[in-house]
Formats: sequence, structure tokens, C-alpha cells
Amino acid sequence: MEGMVFDIQRLSVHDGPGIRTTVFLKGCPLRCVWCHNPESNAIQPQLAFHENLCIGCGNCFAICPNQCHALNNGRHEIARAQCAGCGLCVQACTGALEILGKRCTVEEVMKEVRKDASFYRTSGGGVTVSGGEPLMQPDFTYELLSAAKKEGLHTCLETSGYGPLQSILKFSSAVDLFLYDVKETDSKRHLKFTGVENQQILENLFAIDELGASSILRCPIIPGFNDRDGHFNSIAKLANQLRHVCMIHVEPYNSFGEGKAQSIGSQYALKGVQPPEEERVAEWVNRIQAKAHVPVVKNG
Ligand code: SF4
Ligand code: SF4
Repeated sequence: MEGMVFDIQRLSVHDGPGIRTTVFLKGCPLRCVWCHNPESNAIQPQLAFHENLCIGCGNCFAICPNQCHALNNGRHEIARAQCAGCGLCVQACTGALEILGKRCTVEEVMKEVRKDASFYRTSGGGVTVSGGEPLMQPDFTYELLSAAKKEGLHTCLETSGYGPLQSILKFSSAVDLFLYDVKETDSKRHLKFTGVENQQILENLFAIDELGASSILRCPIIPGFNDRDGHFNSIAKLANQLRHVCMIHVEPYNSFGEGKAQSIGSQYALKGVQPPEEERVAEWVNRIQAKAHVPVVKNG
């Protein structure tokens, strides 16, 4: 069983309880305008170019069989549509180029995960599968979570909840805690900001809750998009309707996606939007907490 993985982050402290290893899978059916992992959107491997690390040696120009690299008015441009992802330019480069996304077996990922087993034990941590959207690779995700559980590790699944009901129900047996995104409670706005409606996402959330699966609602709050009272009240109302939600996380906007989008040649829709100040985030937390029956905390 192989999956397309784009990062394995050890010592994570924001992706579930304790110290964790977070496995990021490639592929996502949503296109959130504020996405902070745009390199996860496509399921296939992608070439990233970090302009600030380029020393202008020209090796990539010479080696690419498809002539993807070219200078245009002094700017290094990459014809991405022609790129076959062969990695020859990456090998010839001093560090400005990389291929994002690698096929890994469950055992290869587990080898990385096991390295921090002692931290999981002492901190109450474990392994988190994230993305992208893990529901895009349901078999691999299930096998990985099951392998971790078999070894006695605590498992979290970070998901947008957008996928077939059958897949997410199947995951329940291998997931100790769902980190479930609530991006926008108004369906039309959800469609506008993420590219999909939220009906299926909410149905899936109610279905896993009915099964008794524990979850934390993860709410990205983006200034000028969903930082409004109607949304805050609806988040609280939603949590109050579910029996196994133990917490609400407010995830304040960060602009990490901007540089990442640039490196893979993508447009970033929120160029120039500033991350909120601490006081503003505290106010968001308080406004949700005023109506919610579970604790509301800032995460990240
Ligand atoms: S990965 Fe291969 S095809 Fe793509 S730009 Fe580099 S050398 Fe060219
Ligand atoms: S091989 Fe790397 S460092 Fe050299 S020009 Fe290409 S991107 Fe820049």
C-alpha cells in the first residue's frame, strides 16, 4: 500500500494532543482561498522553485530534457505544463529546486513515526494524518492509521470532512480523535470560499458523532471572510448539537500559503492580508465561547 506524501513533520504540537508526528498527504478537492498548504492541492508531485536560494548557476537550464527552465527579461521562469517531474534539475541544483510529493509505503511512514515513540508516551501524543485531504487517499489513510493503532499509538485525522460517507465511517475504527474543519457555516459562502458546499461535510460530521467518534472542531478564522457574529454563533450552535465534540479550536489566519504558492507557480488570492493581532483573536475566542458549551481555544 503506497500513498502520496508531501511532508512528515516530527514534534508537532498543534495537530492534536501532546507531541505528535504529522503526516501530510497530497491531494485536496477543496480550494480554500486562504489555503496555507497550496502545495498539497494537486495529488501528483510538483516542482517547487525557491527563488531566494537560487545562485544562478544555470545547471537546470542545461539539464532539463523539456527545456522547462528559461530566462525571460532576467527572470527565471519555469514552463510547468511541460514539466515531467523527472527530478533531473533538482539533482543538478544546489537547493533552490525540490520535488514536492513522494510515493511512500505505510511501513516507510511508520519507520519515521516510530522515531518519536518515547515523546508520544511522555506527552500523550501520537500520530496525525493531515493534508491536503486524507479522504482523497482513503485506503492508504486507513492502513496507516490502523498500523499506528496496532502499535498502541494515539491517532488523529485532520479532515475537511469532504468525501464519501462510507470512507469517513470506516476511518472511525482507526481514529481516536477527529480534527474536523468547520470553515464556513453558511453553505453559499462555503462554496464561494472553498469551491464546495458544506452539506456533505456537515452530514458526515453528524454521522461520525452518532457513531460516538470524538472530535475537535477546527475553525480557520480569516479577517474579512468569516470573522462575523453569524458564523461564530453557528459554530457554537453546531458544537452544542453534537455529543462528542470536546473542544473548538480557533485557527487564526496565517500567510504561510503566500510564499508556498509562489514557489509552485500558483496565484495566492489573499496577497497582502495580514494575520490578526492577538487581541483580535482573543475576541473571536470569547465570542464563540459565550455561546458554546465546550472549551474554545486558539490553536496555532
Ligand atoms: S523536473 Fe525534469 S522535466 Fe521538470 S523542470 Fe526539472 S528537469 Fe525539467
Ligand atoms: S540549478 Fe538551481 S541554483 Fe542553479 S540556476 Fe537552476 S534553480 Fe538556480
